[in-house]
Amino acid sequence: MNLLLQQLLELQSLDQVALDTKKQIENVHLEIERIQTKASQLETQLTQKQQSMQRQEVQYHGNASQLQSLETTLTKQKTRQLSIKKMEEYQALENANTDLKRKIEDLENQMLADLDYLEAEKKAYTQWVVATQCDLEGLQLRGKQLLSEKQSLQITYAEQCTNVSHFETHLRGPFYEAYTVLRRCGKAFPIIVPIIKGHQCSGCHLSVSGDTVAKATQNAHPQCCENCGRLLFVAKEN
Ligand SMILES: [Zn+2]
Repeated sequence: MNLLLQQLLELQSLDQVALDTKKQIENVHLEIERIQTKASQLETQLTQKQQSMQRQEVQYHGNASQLQSLETTLTKQKTRQLSIKKMEEYQALENANTDLKRKIEDLENQMLADLDYLEAEKKAYTQWVVATQCDLEGLQLRGKQLLSEKQSLQITYAEQCTNVSHFETHLRGPFYEAYTVLRRCGKAFPIIVPIIKGHQCSGCHLSVSGDTVAKATQNAHPQCCENCGRLLFVAKEN
């Protein structure tokens, strides 16, 4: 194996390491995004439930004021009834009072049912809030850990990229050029692979032509696999 080929294979393994780190960073980033989405959904649910509880309480208090006002009206009408002399007028007011009493009774029943419901809701809500806040804290903690993991991976990645560029500073020639073109195009790693079992590209495991094998063996010009386009070389014994 000539020196340049050996250097290219070393470059490839340095690139591969950096690429793996980059992939890890992307995965961590996706996980952070997933956690942020989940946390923000929980926060929205917390707000919505809180608002719903508040609306129910406001409604209950509204009914309480309405009840008070109906009772005040009833008391006033009863007082007025005492001074009425005409039978017809008295009876009309009596009917109105009966009507009012029924309304008061309906409202009281409604409020009793509402109160039971509200208390059960409040109890469930309180338990839910505690559990949700606990989940939220867990997510926030995990998010922080992942963020620090991402930062440390980014530092490692930057170092690995520096290693790659230092290593290839003095590399020249058609094989190196062919390698960099494939790398720039985002060719799947490994980019440079040996021909194995006589005629097989070890990247895609398909056979390459005898002509390509012969040229690759001469090692004068870069040869690419006709199937996958990877750069081929023939591993010489020893
Ligand atoms: Zn191939």
